[in-house]
Amino acid sequence: METRTSDAHVIDTPAIELPARSISELDRLGDEIAELSAHLEAATARLLTLIREFDARGGWNNGFRSCAHWLSWRVGLDLGAARERVRVARALGTLPRLAQALARGELSYAKVRALTRVATPETEERLLAVGRAGTAEHVERIVRAWRWVDRKAERRAAAQQHAGRALHVRQDEDGMVTVRGRLAPEVGALLLRALDAAREVLYQRARAHEAEVGPMDVSAETPSMAQQQADALALLAETALHHGIDPGTPGERYQVVIHVDAPVLADPDQPGQAVLEEGARVSAETSQRLACDASRVVMRHDEEGRVVEIGARTRTIPPALRRALQHRDRGCRFPGCGVRFGQGHHIRHWAQGGPTTLSNLAMLCRRHHRAVHEEGYRVERRPDGDMQFRYPNGWLIPGVPPPADVPADPEHVIRAQNQADGLALHARTATPSWLGERLDVGYAIAVLHPLARKR
Ligand SMILES: [Zn+2]
Ligand SMILES: [Zn+2]
Repeated sequence: METRTSDAHVIDTPAIELPARSISELDRLGDEIAELSAHLEAATARLLTLIREFDARGGWNNGFRSCAHWLSWRVGLDLGAARERVRVARALGTLPRLAQALARGELSYAKVRALTRVATPETEERLLAVGRAGTAEHVERIVRAWRWVDRKAERRAAAQQHAGRALHVRQDEDGMVTVRGRLAPEVGALLLRALDAAREVLYQRARAHEAEVGPMDVSAETPSMAQQQADALALLAETALHHGIDPGTPGERYQVVIHVDAPVLADPDQPGQAVLEEGARVSAETSQRLACDASRVVMRHDEEGRVVEIGARTRTIPPALRRALQHRDRGCRFPGCGVRFGQGHHIRHWAQGGPTTLSNLAMLCRRHHRAVHEEGYRVERRPDGDMQFRYPNGWLIPGVPPPADVPADPEHVIRAQNQADGLALHARTATPSWLGERLDVGYAIAVLHPLARKR
């Protein structure tokens, strides 16, 4: 222990030489911190239950991208913390033991947050024991090691799947060809989509043929699903060879071409139609959205169906203006959104004479561009240049919501609620059973993790 001398440059720590009375006072202070913390954790459990219900019932789905975005907007959490709350709230829905330990103030939110990253209903009980025994740091280290084992197992499974890909094509004695194989999930999805598309084309062709030559011979039955799939695969092979097996650039592959009757684009209530190139009809509102920031090909038709205008090049926001828009708006302008990139929305649509100028543009993310065009949300430019958004019912959506009413003594309210819930919380409620021994993470994982190699 340092003794303080007048000339020594020793920074004394005041806790060292306290008289006994102060020590017991500080003990009490420490106990008070521990006890109030337990109360707050119990209240956090209630908060998470409310968030889970709000999320499940879609309470946020009135213009917000996600429950986390709503939470961030409404209570001022940063988005990362809000996402974490929602994640933990959802996870606790299937992990009743961990949920209960938090509700009883026995486990801190920090521990529960870490444990829910790996816990499953099967491993929950073991991980709860880890949470009870260890400090927050122990829990964090064990969870990290646990995830590593999980990820290794996942990678192993993915590698096995990938290695197991195969396509066997065999010619039978009668000349028929048998195809059998196993594809990775995403490749399988691609194949299924291609087969769907090809079947649809064959179906449309058959209908068109029928319309021309009348109903087909009654003896010709509708082909079975398996037969249709075989025909579809043949069409795929034919198409692929015809196009020199060129998958094209992504931009070409997903380009959307819409044909819009000119009056519809200006006013959705006008008669007329908007049709995607593939023939699917879209609503007038959707066609307005697709045309709003037209990096798409928009063909306007007159009454006789002649193309009167191809809009893409003229309506695309020029690069300099787009940069200015990005600089001014810095992302989606919808309250609480904050997505960094978006589409240029014409506040007054160009088809109604709205100019493609900075003052008539607002950057909106994909989600909110849809909200404005198709879900009845409104964006207006105020005379001072600021933008304001309204719910479909006309109510204003505040950029920052007013703070909630808080009782004069919120601590008392939390304590009273916890007492009403039958909780008897004290300074030792959340104390880990750890006695100071060294944590051997490797051993702990080997014992606890179901997939760990046993030593
Ligand atoms: Zn728009
Ligand atoms: Zn947005």
